[in-house]
Amino acid sequence: MTPEAARASARLPLAFLPTPLHPLRRLSAWLAQNGGPSKLQLWIKRDDLTGVGGGGNKTRKLEYLLADALAQNADVILTTGAVQSNHCRQTAAAAAQLGLECHLVLGGDPPDRVNGNLLLDMLLGAKLHWTERENRLARLDALAGELRAAGRRPYPITYGGSNSIGARGYVNALEELQTQCASIGLHPDAIAFASSSGGTQAGLLAGSAILGWTPPFIGISVDERAAHLQRMVARLATETAAGLGLAHTFAITDVIVEDGYLGGGYGVLGDLERDAIRLMAQTEGIFLDPVYTGRALGGLLDLLRNTPERLIGRDSGRSQSLVFWHTGGAPALFAYADALTA
Ligand SMILES: *Cc1c(COP(=O)(O)O)cnc(C)c1O
Repeated sequence: MTPEAARASARLPLAFLPTPLHPLRRLSAWLAQNGGPSKLQLWIKRDDLTGVGGGGNKTRKLEYLLADALAQNADVILTTGAVQSNHCRQTAAAAAQLGLECHLVLGGDPPDRVNGNLLLDMLLGAKLHWTERENRLARLDALAGELRAAGRRPYPITYGGSNSIGARGYVNALEELQTQCASIGLHPDAIAFASSSGGTQAGLLAGSAILGWTPPFIGISVDERAAHLQRMVARLATETAAGLGLAHTFAITDVIVEDGYLGGGYGVLGDLERDAIRLMAQTEGIFLDPVYTGRALGGLLDLLRNTPERLIGRDSGRSQSLVFWHTGGAPALFAYADALTA
């Protein structure tokens, strides 16, 4: 089977695709006026609009993961994440759409106020299980065992849906972007996005090798040091390519990760994120999220203003373009109302 055929045969269409690709004219002008490259056009790929339960990047992974679950005749879907996990919310929504029971193992204690993604998880009818953050995968495993013992057919999905099946969603996504770019004659100098559990970046890299399309893919790390994330992404990209019939070993030097914007750690909103969220909202009318895309765009703008040569080469006066991949997450804004208005 060719990689294309393997990808197509195992995909359950859940998302509204293709997601839009459009220029960010006012944000690009702001950047040029605020110390950024003078002739850089920013574009945005709107995976916040994938559709299922509010959308986001996890929907593309779920198209492959849930196709696999159905092929295995699963009758209950399990996954895990943080209290404000976008992945959990999209999984619960897709499961509801398919008529499958969904269990979510969430890190920490139930908060006093239910809002954001957690509220949506509850509206979607997901069954919630709380455990310590470090214990989440073990609890997921134990829960799958309990369900199996009760005669059910559970399908557990790891953090962020980031395994070699889920990452196929971003192989497919890159092909979609390539088609869109070709149709308008756009040749991006770089593609940048938030990176955390690594499935998005691994899928894009595997897709890059399969398609032979090699702009730099810049992962702005949300919570991991570069060395660790590079290792995870290289391994997952290698496995993802192998699953699609391409024997290609990715090295850590193939994986670009910027880890200078970890701030106060995962989920801690600082000035960088707050400013980026406000700027995108006020220049383009687009909502970023407090955990991933706010940090990624904040980091990206900082890099473009201070060390653009690390991303797109020197500002030679030539027109340049960069695609920022919006991976979703805006429902979490409501859980950060206090921090966002401070
Ligand atoms: C999960 C998530 C990411 C990170 O994607 P990974 O594939 O886990 O690296 C980025 N942005 C948002 C909004 C997410 O929910």
